[in-house]
Amino acid sequence: MTSVVIVGSGFTGFECARSLARRLRKSAADGAAYVDISIVSPVDYMLYTPLLPDVAGGLVDARFVAIPLANSLRGVQIVRGRAEEVDFGERTVTFTDPEERSRSLPWDRLVLTPGSVTRLFDVPGLAEHARGLKSTAEALYLRDHVIQQLELADVDDDPGRAEARRTIVVVGASYSGTELAAQLRALADSAAKQIGFDPAAVKFVLLDLAEQVMPEVGEKLGEAAMKVLRSRGIDVRLGVTLKEVHAEHVVLSDDSLIRTYTVAWVTGVTGAPLIEKLGLPTEKGRLKVTTELQVPGHPDVFAAGDAAAVPDVTQPGKITPPTAQHATRQGKLLGRNVAASLGYGKPKKYKHRNMGLVVDLGPKYAVANPLNVRLSGFPAKTVARIYHLYAIPRGVNRWAVALAYLTDMLFDRSVVSIGLSTQEDAHFSASEGIPLPKAH
Ligand SMILES: Cc1cc2nc3c(=O)[nH]c(=O)nc-3n(C[C@H](O)[C@H](O)[C@H](O)COP(=O)(O)OP(=O)(O)OC[C@H]3O[C@@H](n4cnc5c(N)ncnc54)[C@H](O)[C@@H]3O)c2cc1C
Repeated sequence: MTSVVIVGSGFTGFECARSLARRLRKSAADGAAYVDISIVSPVDYMLYTPLLPDVAGGLVDARFVAIPLANSLRGVQIVRGRAEEVDFGERTVTFTDPEERSRSLPWDRLVLTPGSVTRLFDVPGLAEHARGLKSTAEALYLRDHVIQQLELADVDDDPGRAEARRTIVVVGASYSGTELAAQLRALADSAAKQIGFDPAAVKFVLLDLAEQVMPEVGEKLGEAAMKVLRSRGIDVRLGVTLKEVHAEHVVLSDDSLIRTYTVAWVTGVTGAPLIEKLGLPTEKGRLKVTTELQVPGHPDVFAAGDAAAVPDVTQPGKITPPTAQHATRQGKLLGRNVAASLGYGKPKKYKHRNMGLVVDLGPKYAVANPLNVRLSGFPAKTVARIYHLYAIPRGVNRWAVALAYLTDMLFDRSVVSIGLSTQEDAHFSASEGIPLPKAH
């Protein structure tokens, strides 16, 4: 029997498993041999990350953005575990299961799609006091923490401390950081209305070293987004980042000090830690692959998505950016090319032109550039919501998200911190598996 092992159940691994299983089912009907497909992942779902800012903002429930593997990947064995190392000679992958047992799986074809993790910099106190936005644990923690700080501020008799509790610093003004700031602003506005304080008392600071917010959407839409952010009372500071992070304040690179208890770090990603351990050539922390998504020198090993440096044939010399748009398409092509390597069908090169981006900026606002058409305001909001509903790869989740959107239009957001994720759960090492020095 032939074994295919897929490492990672994000956009790429999920789409690869689904497309490969479908192709092989079709070939089996034509009399092809049996192929065993396994997907190894620490989680039993595919996370629809573009809606994590909505989870942090209390608009969408975390379960709605988690697509269960069990119900979606027919004919694929789901193995809970974190891959630790690959033996290319023996053709095995070793992984640690949820009960910390070390186990291994043999493979004839290996697909590496462990995605990315938050890129941390050597900023003192960052890993200890800041939290990212790559996992449900981090999104839920941010929501609960912001609500709790606003509740504490309301009864704090030290005005300076109350002000710090009502100050939220988001670092990274690309689309995910900007969406996070906008969604947390909407949550804070709801809290102000329901708890009974002035919404203007809650201060948001959005920082970025770049000179523009969301360079991904171009200058004009970046300016439109900037206007929306400023009109919603978000203090956008460009050309500046964090120098130090402390429990109750941060120091910026221009030496200014902000008292705060909430720091969200959303500055970008780097390849998952597994990639570095493989000892194979990388580019910008991502595994080098060919345009057919094969690892050079290892014809039976494939990789794609955020974890891989996939050549962008539409822009020679460049690699495709780490986006869901590319990850989804690369996953489907992986399915096709792995099947071809087993003798079913023909392989193809990866080629995809960017179709644009949608950025939700909270109630009534959004910017989008689908197929290079610049949109803002209500049309952009409609396109953004329809796009997400179309892109979520499961009907039940789509339904739940659509109801959440409708509920948000009709009612105030629920201001509750249920405490599902603690500060420790949301730590970069616990929630994203980033190895950190012991001192952290
Ligand atoms: C907040 C946020 C908002 C975003 N918004 C957008 C957007 O609007 N549009 C867009 O195009 N892109 C967006 N992105 C980017 C998009 O999420 C990524 O490009 C996409 O998730 C990459 O897919 P992937 O499968 O390569 O990796 P991931 O989705 O990161 O999945 C990797 C999978 O591998 C698993 N894994 C990791 N290490 C191991 C291991 N050692 N062993 C086994 N499994 C492992 C992980 O648990 C995960 O299941 C956003 C990202 C974030 C964080």
